[in-house]
Amino acid sequence: MKNIAVLTSGGDAPGMNAAVRAVVRTGIYHQLNVFGIMYGYRGMLKNEIFPMESKSVANIIQRGGTILKTARCKEFYEYEGRKLAYENLKKHNIDGVVVIGGDGSFNGAQKFSQEFDIPCIGLPGTIDKDIAGTDYTIGFDTAVNTAIEAIDKIRDTADAHDRLFVIEVMGRDAGYIALHSGIATGAEHILMPERKTELNEIVEELQANERRKKLVNLIVVAEGDENGGANEVGRIIKERCPQLDTRVCILGHIQRGGAPSCTDRILASRMGYAAVDALLEGIHNVMIGVVNDKIHYTPLDKAVKAKQEIDPEWFKIVKILAS
Ligand code: ATP
Repeated sequence: MKNIAVLTSGGDAPGMNAAVRAVVRTGIYHQLNVFGIMYGYRGMLKNEIFPMESKSVANIIQRGGTILKTARCKEFYEYEGRKLAYENLKKHNIDGVVVIGGDGSFNGAQKFSQEFDIPCIGLPGTIDKDIAGTDYTIGFDTAVNTAIEAIDKIRDTADAHDRLFVIEVMGRDAGYIALHSGIATGAEHILMPERKTELNEIVEELQANERRKKLVNLIVVAEGDENGGANEVGRIIKERCPQLDTRVCILGHIQRGGAPSCTDRILASRMGYAAVDALLEGIHNVMIGVVNDKIHYTPLDKAVKAKQEIDPEWFKIVKILAS
């Protein structure tokens, strides 16, 4: 293996730059030529492929987003599109590709590496932490910290006005951002898709809280929760508890941006390093994960969206600590 390439694909996540940096510098350390591909698979198809040096990745470990940009690419779903991508990689004699993205990107990489003689390694870059084969994904920790910072600020105003806030956090079909940020900010209730929550019970509790003069109430709702998101939860609470001053806040895209946390920088650096190692050792077409603090390989076709178990004890803890 002499020439490798790296790309970021799907939704962006803080820490992707740290992963790109690690791939580039580990490759150069092993005397490989490293290429960057702009805009994910779209750049493969459009031949937006350029050589990278050590200094191409200087001063990016602390930056959110991705210097390689990211995109979704319809043509890559088709064989003809992937063939064109292959031909472009061949023009640069690329013999291995590191794909930083989500499960969709790994699906694409899996198909591509089965059809053509270029192995791929996946790195899980998503704030949602919903991929099988790893305990953490690049971007999750930063997103949770961003959510915590925002919720702490909301708590101040909730406290000043004795208000109830229903706060929606990201995570798509997964509730880990809600669970972690809710516990860390002392939310009274956490609503997430992995566990059915009866709104009736929450309403009754809120009415009891009112009797015991609990002044600040925070409810954290994952965007994928089946009660319909914060707007709907807020609407029902306002209707059923008209005495409470209830407000809704949807945190939105701030959770995807910002400087990556220390944990994400370290995770991304470790995974990027391991990706190049794997390519050199002939461990191909796997996603690099970290399980129980050890590097773990999962075949790309098994690196799918997955819900990790959530210990029910957490909900008991939330309830006890917020009482
Ligand atoms: P995120 O989790 O942030 O959405 P993702 O990697 O899952 O990231 P997708 O939009 O699902 O994001 O996939 C990114 C790109 O990967 C697609 O635009 C497409 O080019 C390619 N891709 C996804 N699924 C497939 C597939 N089944 N076959 C071929 N290519 C695919």
